[in-house]
Amino acid sequence: MENTKIGAIKEKAIKEHIPIIMDDTLEVVAKILEQAKPKRILEIGTAIGYSAIRFSEYLQNDGIIDTIERDEEKAKEAIKNIKELNLEEQIHVFIGDALEILPTMKGPYDIVFIDAAKGKYPIFLEQALRMLENNGIIIADNVLYKGYVMSDYNKHKQRTAVRGLREFLKKLEENENLQTEILNIGDGIAISKKI
Ligand code: SAH
Ligand code: MG
Repeated sequence: MENTKIGAIKEKAIKEHIPIIMDDTLEVVAKILEQAKPKRILEIGTAIGYSAIRFSEYLQNDGIIDTIERDEEKAKEAIKNIKELNLEEQIHVFIGDALEILPTMKGPYDIVFIDAAKGKYPIFLEQALRMLENNGIIIADNVLYKGYVMSDYNKHKQRTAVRGLREFLKKLEENENLQTEILNIGDGIAISKKI
Protein backbone atom coordinates (compact mmCIF):
# COMPACT_ATOMS: atom_id res chain seq x y z
CA MET A 1 0.00 0.00 0.00
CA GLU A 2 1.36 3.36 -0.99
CA ASN A 3 0.88 5.34 2.16
CA THR A 4 1.88 8.81 1.01
CA LYS A 5 -0.71 8.72 -1.77
CA ILE A 6 -3.43 7.49 0.57
CA GLY A 7 -2.40 10.15 3.08
CA ALA A 8 -2.75 12.80 0.37
CA ILE A 9 -6.25 11.57 -0.56
CA LYS A 10 -7.28 11.73 3.09
CA GLU A 11 -5.84 15.22 3.52
CA LYS A 12 -7.61 16.49 0.43
CA ALA A 13 -10.92 15.07 1.62
CA ILE A 14 -10.55 16.75 4.98
CA LYS A 15 -9.56 20.06 3.37
CA GLU A 16 -12.58 19.95 1.07
CA HIS A 17 -14.98 18.85 3.82
CA ILE A 18 -15.71 15.52 2.16
CA PRO A 19 -16.98 13.28 4.96
CA ILE A 20 -14.66 10.25 4.72
CA ILE A 21 -14.72 7.34 7.13
CA MET A 22 -13.39 8.32 10.58
CA ASP A 23 -10.23 6.66 11.88
CA ASP A 24 -12.03 4.92 14.77
CA THR A 25 -14.68 3.60 12.41
CA LEU A 26 -12.08 2.39 9.94
CA GLU A 27 -10.34 0.50 12.72
CA VAL A 28 -13.54 -1.39 13.54
CA VAL A 29 -14.35 -2.09 9.89
CA ALA A 30 -10.78 -3.24 9.22
CA LYS A 31 -11.07 -5.81 12.01
CA ILE A 32 -14.31 -7.13 10.53
CA LEU A 33 -12.79 -7.34 7.05
CA GLU A 34 -9.67 -9.03 8.38
CA GLN A 35 -11.85 -11.78 9.82
CA ALA A 36 -14.34 -12.02 6.98
CA LYS A 37 -11.72 -12.07 4.19
CA PRO A 38 -14.29 -10.85 1.68
CA LYS A 39 -14.22 -11.67 -1.98
CA ARG A 40 -16.86 -9.15 -2.99
CA ILE A 41 -17.66 -5.85 -1.30
CA LEU A 42 -20.39 -3.38 -2.27
CA GLU A 43 -20.01 0.23 -1.16
CA ILE A 44 -22.79 2.81 -1.46
CA GLY A 45 -21.16 6.27 -1.39
CA THR A 46 -17.62 6.37 -2.86
CA ALA A 47 -16.80 10.08 -2.50
CA ILE A 48 -13.18 10.25 -3.71
CA GLY A 49 -12.43 6.61 -3.05
CA TYR A 50 -10.74 6.80 0.33
CA SER A 51 -12.69 4.07 2.13
CA ALA A 52 -12.76 1.76 -0.90
CA ILE A 53 -8.99 2.09 -1.22
CA ARG A 54 -8.50 1.34 2.48
CA PHE A 55 -10.88 -1.64 2.33
CA SER A 56 -9.15 -3.11 -0.74
CA GLU A 57 -6.21 -4.15 1.44
CA TYR A 58 -8.43 -6.80 3.05
CA LEU A 59 -9.79 -8.38 -0.12
CA GLN A 60 -9.07 -11.99 -0.93
CA ASN A 61 -6.98 -12.64 -4.01
CA ASP A 62 -9.16 -11.81 -7.00
CA GLY A 63 -11.55 -9.99 -4.71
CA ILE A 64 -13.37 -6.87 -5.92
CA ILE A 65 -15.16 -3.80 -4.62
CA ASP A 66 -18.10 -2.28 -6.49
CA THR A 67 -18.73 1.27 -5.30
CA ILE A 68 -21.43 3.77 -6.29
CA GLU A 69 -21.18 7.57 -6.39
CA ARG A 70 -23.75 9.98 -7.79
CA ASP A 71 -21.57 13.11 -7.78
CA GLU A 72 -19.78 12.94 -11.10
CA GLU A 73 -16.87 15.13 -10.08
CA LYS A 74 -16.17 13.08 -6.96
CA ALA A 75 -16.58 9.82 -8.87
CA LYS A 76 -14.05 10.93 -11.46
CA GLU A 77 -11.61 11.88 -8.79
CA ALA A 78 -12.12 8.49 -7.15
CA ILE A 79 -11.38 6.77 -10.46
CA LYS A 80 -8.20 8.82 -10.82
CA ASN A 81 -7.07 8.02 -7.27
CA ILE A 82 -7.80 4.33 -7.75
CA LYS A 83 -5.84 4.28 -10.99
CA GLU A 84 -2.86 6.02 -9.44
CA LEU A 85 -2.71 3.26 -6.85
CA ASN A 86 -3.07 0.57 -9.55
CA LEU A 87 -6.29 -0.66 -7.97
CA GLU A 88 -8.54 -0.33 -11.01
CA GLU A 89 -8.81 -4.11 -11.41
CA GLN A 90 -10.08 -4.42 -7.85
CA ILE A 91 -12.24 -1.32 -7.39
CA HIS A 92 -15.03 -0.54 -9.85
CA VAL A 93 -16.72 2.84 -9.58
CA PHE A 94 -20.32 3.11 -10.77
CA ILE A 95 -21.36 6.69 -11.49
CA GLY A 96 -24.99 7.48 -10.78
CA ASP A 97 -27.69 7.45 -8.15
CA ALA A 98 -27.54 4.27 -6.08
CA LEU A 99 -31.35 4.26 -6.04
CA GLU A 100 -31.22 3.59 -9.78
CA ILE A 101 -28.04 1.54 -10.01
CA LEU A 102 -28.65 -0.90 -7.14
CA PRO A 103 -31.74 -2.55 -8.68
CA THR A 104 -29.66 -3.31 -11.83
CA MET A 105 -26.95 -5.12 -9.84
CA LYS A 106 -26.95 -8.81 -9.13
CA GLY A 107 -24.37 -9.40 -6.45
CA PRO A 108 -23.86 -11.44 -4.43
CA TYR A 109 -21.70 -9.57 -1.92
CA ASP A 110 -19.99 -10.69 1.28
CA ILE A 111 -19.93 -7.17 2.70
CA VAL A 112 -22.15 -4.18 1.98
CA PHE A 113 -20.95 -0.81 3.29
CA ILE A 114 -23.70 1.82 3.38
CA ASP A 115 -22.34 5.38 3.51
CA ALA A 116 -24.54 7.68 1.39
CA ALA A 117 -27.77 9.73 1.77
CA LYS A 118 -29.04 8.99 5.28
CA GLY A 119 -32.71 9.43 4.38
CA LYS A 120 -32.33 6.59 1.88
CA TYR A 121 -30.82 4.00 4.23
CA PRO A 122 -34.06 1.93 4.40
CA ILE A 123 -34.05 1.57 0.60
CA PHE A 124 -30.34 0.79 0.54
CA LEU A 125 -30.98 -1.87 3.18
CA GLU A 126 -33.59 -3.60 1.03
CA GLN A 127 -31.14 -3.78 -1.85
CA ALA A 128 -28.28 -4.86 0.40
CA LEU A 129 -30.37 -7.72 1.79
CA ARG A 130 -31.32 -8.83 -1.70
CA MET A 131 -27.65 -9.20 -2.67
CA LEU A 132 -26.09 -10.30 0.61
CA GLU A 133 -24.44 -13.75 0.81
CA ASN A 134 -25.28 -16.10 3.64
CA ASN A 135 -22.95 -15.12 6.50
CA GLY A 136 -22.58 -11.74 4.81
CA ILE A 137 -22.30 -8.51 6.79
CA ILE A 138 -23.95 -5.13 6.30
CA ILE A 139 -22.00 -2.24 7.79
CA ALA A 140 -23.63 1.20 7.89
CA ASP A 141 -21.85 4.42 8.80
CA ASN A 142 -23.25 7.57 10.45
CA VAL A 143 -26.26 5.77 11.94
CA LEU A 144 -26.26 7.94 15.08
CA TYR A 145 -25.70 11.14 13.08
CA LYS A 146 -24.00 13.33 15.67
CA GLY A 147 -26.47 12.22 18.31
CA TYR A 148 -29.53 13.51 16.45
CA VAL A 149 -30.96 10.01 15.96
CA MET A 150 -31.27 9.46 19.72
CA SER A 151 -32.42 13.00 20.52
CA ASP A 152 -36.02 14.25 20.75
CA TYR A 153 -35.45 17.57 19.08
CA ASN A 154 -34.06 17.92 15.57
CA LYS A 155 -33.76 20.88 13.28
CA HIS A 156 -35.88 20.81 10.17
CA LYS A 157 -32.79 20.37 8.02
CA GLN A 158 -31.94 17.05 9.67
CA ARG A 159 -35.43 15.58 9.86
CA THR A 160 -35.44 13.49 6.69
CA ALA A 161 -32.05 12.02 7.56
CA VAL A 162 -33.07 11.30 11.15
CA ARG A 163 -36.37 9.73 10.09
CA GLY A 164 -34.56 7.54 7.55
CA LEU A 165 -31.92 6.44 10.02
CA ARG A 166 -34.49 5.59 12.72
CA GLU A 167 -36.49 3.52 10.27
CA PHE A 168 -33.29 1.81 9.12
CA LEU A 169 -32.25 0.88 12.67
CA LYS A 170 -35.75 -0.39 13.43
CA LYS A 171 -35.69 -2.57 10.31
CA LEU A 172 -32.33 -4.01 11.31
CA GLU A 173 -33.52 -4.82 14.78
CA GLU A 174 -36.78 -6.39 13.60
CA ASN A 175 -35.07 -8.58 10.99
CA GLU A 176 -34.76 -12.09 12.40
CA ASN A 177 -32.15 -13.04 9.84
CA LEU A 178 -29.79 -10.38 11.09
CA GLN A 179 -27.75 -10.10 14.24
CA THR A 180 -27.17 -6.39 14.73
CA GLU A 181 -24.80 -4.41 16.88
CA ILE A 182 -24.88 -0.61 17.01
CA LEU A 183 -21.63 0.96 18.15
CA ASN A 184 -21.22 4.50 19.40
CA ILE A 185 -17.93 4.87 17.57
CA GLY A 186 -17.18 7.69 15.16
CA ASP A 187 -20.58 8.90 13.94
CA GLY A 188 -22.19 5.57 14.93
CA ILE A 189 -21.90 2.30 13.04
CA ALA A 190 -24.38 -0.54 12.65
CA ILE A 191 -22.96 -4.00 12.00
CA SER A 192 -25.47 -6.63 10.93
CA LYS A 193 -24.51 -10.23 10.34
CA LYS A 194 -26.79 -12.42 8.27
CA ILE A 195 -27.41 -15.55 10.32
N1 SAH B 1 -17.32 6.20 1.74
C1 SAH B 1 -16.58 7.44 1.55
C2 SAH B 1 -17.37 8.66 1.97
C3 SAH B 1 -18.71 8.79 1.33
S1 SAH B 1 -19.45 10.36 1.66
C4 SAH B 1 -15.31 7.37 2.38
O1 SAH B 1 -15.40 7.02 3.56
O2 SAH B 1 -14.23 7.68 1.85
C5 SAH B 1 -21.04 10.08 1.00
C6 SAH B 1 -21.09 10.09 -0.50
O3 SAH B 1 -22.33 9.50 -0.90
C7 SAH B 1 -21.08 11.48 -1.13
O4 SAH B 1 -19.98 11.61 -1.99
C8 SAH B 1 -22.41 11.59 -1.88
O5 SAH B 1 -22.30 12.26 -3.12
C9 SAH B 1 -22.76 10.13 -2.09
N2 SAH B 1 -24.19 9.85 -2.23
C10 SAH B 1 -25.20 10.33 -1.47
N3 SAH B 1 -26.37 9.82 -1.86
C11 SAH B 1 -26.12 9.00 -2.90
C12 SAH B 1 -26.93 8.21 -3.76
N4 SAH B 1 -28.26 8.17 -3.62
N5 SAH B 1 -26.32 7.49 -4.73
C13 SAH B 1 -24.98 7.54 -4.89
N6 SAH B 1 -24.17 8.27 -4.12
C14 SAH B 1 -24.72 9.01 -3.15
MG1 MG C 1 -19.96 8.41 6.29
